Amino acid sequence: MDGTRPLIGVLALQGDVREHLAALRSVGAEAMPVRRQSELEAVDGLVIPGGESTTIVKLAQSFELFEPLHKRIAAGMPTYGSCAGMILLADRILDGIAGQDTFGGIDMTVRRNAFGRQVESFEEAVSVEGLDGGPLTAVFIRAPWVEEVGPDARVLARVESGPAAGRIVGIRQQHLLATSFHPELTGDARVHGYFLEMVREAEQAPATGAAASKSGDE
Ligand code: GLN
Repeated sequence: MDGTRPLIGVLALQGDVREHLAALRSVGAEAMPVRRQSELEAVDGLVIPGGESTTIVKLAQSFELFEPLHKRIAAGMPTYGSCAGMILLADRILDGIAGQDTFGGIDMTVRRNAFGRQVESFEEAVSVEGLDGGPLTAVFIRAPWVEEVGPDARVLARVESGPAAGRIVGIRQQHLLATSFHPELTGDARVHGYFLEMVREAEQAPATGAAASKSGDE
């Protein structure tokens, strides 16, 4: 960070990388794609886009990013995961492939493809705690939902109508944020703005050692 604008990375292995970069810039962050460890080390926070969680893990392993990512997330780097990104931030998953790994960090159980195969994608108005301006249009694409949450995770959004009413689709635990839906696709950057505030807060009062060790020369 240059002292004024946090630098937020977008994990650029798969998914809506350009859309997330544009949304982050629109709310006043500096933003850059992250594909290597040196880039990961440069950023103050990270967005993990949607895509296919199993593929993102494989790519992260072959780009030698899996362990570094796991470590920085565990050490307090603010991270926002959308859709597959939500799966990747879950400590536990259901309906994963055999042995499917995640970066983890949020004490929750996430079910992959939870809305059913016949419902590939849909849009719905969802109220998100902490966002001013009323419900947002949430776009779900082969989306997961959160099936169970630990005591430190705070539910921010639930499906409000239809057969999945009540299902958790937005969650925060300290420096980690996850949504089942894709806010980068709607032109409404309020979730990105919320995440930028999380990054700013972490810069001011690092929850754990990560941000401190990044700026250890002060
Ligand atoms: N179903 C995908 C997975 O398991 C997630 C879909 C998405 O990110 N749009 O990773």
